Amino acid sequence: MTSKTALLTHADCLAHVTPDGHPEQVARLEHVLYALQPLEVARITAPLAADDDILRIHPASYLAELRRASPSEGHRALDADTWMSPGSLDAAFRGAGAMVRAVDMVLGGEAPNAFAAVRPPGHHAETDTPMGFCLFGNAALGVKHALDHHGLNRVAVVDFDVHHGNGTQDLLWDEPRALLISSQQIPLFPGTGRASETGAHDNILNLPLPPESGGAHMRREYQHKALPRLRDFAPQLIIISAGFDAHADDPLAQLNWSTEDFAWLTAEICEIAADVCQGRVVSTLEGGYDLNALSASVRAHVQELMKAAT
Ligand SMILES: [Zn+2]
Repeated sequence: MTSKTALLTHADCLAHVTPDGHPEQVARLEHVLYALQPLEVARITAPLAADDDILRIHPASYLAELRRASPSEGHRALDADTWMSPGSLDAAFRGAGAMVRAVDMVLGGEAPNAFAAVRPPGHHAETDTPMGFCLFGNAALGVKHALDHHGLNRVAVVDFDVHHGNGTQDLLWDEPRALLISSQQIPLFPGTGRASETGAHDNILNLPLPPESGGAHMRREYQHKALPRLRDFAPQLIIISAGFDAHADDPLAQLNWSTEDFAWLTAEICEIAADVCQGRVVSTLEGGYDLNALSASVRAHVQELMKAAT
C-alpha cells in the first residue's frame, strides 16, 4: 500500500488527433502532463481496456461500428464534433483501461485515490452513440466495473464538467446501485441535464447552473443540494468526471469558476469520501479547453487528491 495518489496515463492518448482548430486537441493533455510533472504521485501506465470491459456499458454492435469507422489515415467525423484519427481507438481503450485499473487499485488498497489523465473524454458517449468528442463512457464503466466485478452495492459519480454528462446519465439511468450528481451550465450543449431528469430509481441529481453564475453560486448549490445527497447515499467509491471547462477562461462556456473553485469542490468530495468510504476516489479527465486554465485547474485538483491521500 502506498499513500500516494496514482496518476494513470499513456502516450497513446496523445495519438488521438483531431482536425486543426478543434478544441479537444493533443496539446490539452501535453499541458496537463507538464503541469503534473513536479507532483509526487505514483505514475502508472494505463493498460488497454479489454473488449469485455467496454461491453459492460456499450453493446458489441457499437464496438464493431467504431472499429469499422476507425480511419487508416486522416480523420473521420462521427458527428459534427466527434472525430477519429488512426490513433483514436487505442486512445479510447487506454482511457477506459485507466479507469478499470484505477478502480482496481483504489478498491484493492494499492492507492488511496487516483486521477486518469486521458483523452478522448467520456461523459457524452451514450449506450449506442459517440458524441461530444467522446467514444467510451469511462465514468459509467468505472461504476459498472466496481459494482459487477468488485461486488460493491453503491457507487457515486460527481460530474462537474460544464456540459451535462448525458452519456453517463444514459448509461446509469436504470442503475439503482449508482448515484449520478451532475452540475452543468444550462442552456448549453448537449441540452439535457435539467433538474426534472432524475433517473428510473431517483438515482440522478442534475444541478443546472445559469450562465455567468460564478463560483459562489456553485458552492451554495453543492453545499445545499449535491453534497448532502452524496453523503446520504454513503457510496463505497466516488468517481469524478473532472471537466475544467467551467473555468472563467474557458472558450466553450460561461460559468466563470476559478481554479480555487475546482480545488474547493475536490476537497469537499474528498472529505465526504474520507467519512464514508475510506477516501476512495477515482477521477477521470473530461473537458477543459483553455490550455492554461486547464493545466492549472487539473494541478489544483490533483493536489487536493494528494492532500486527502496523506
Ligand atoms: Zn465539457
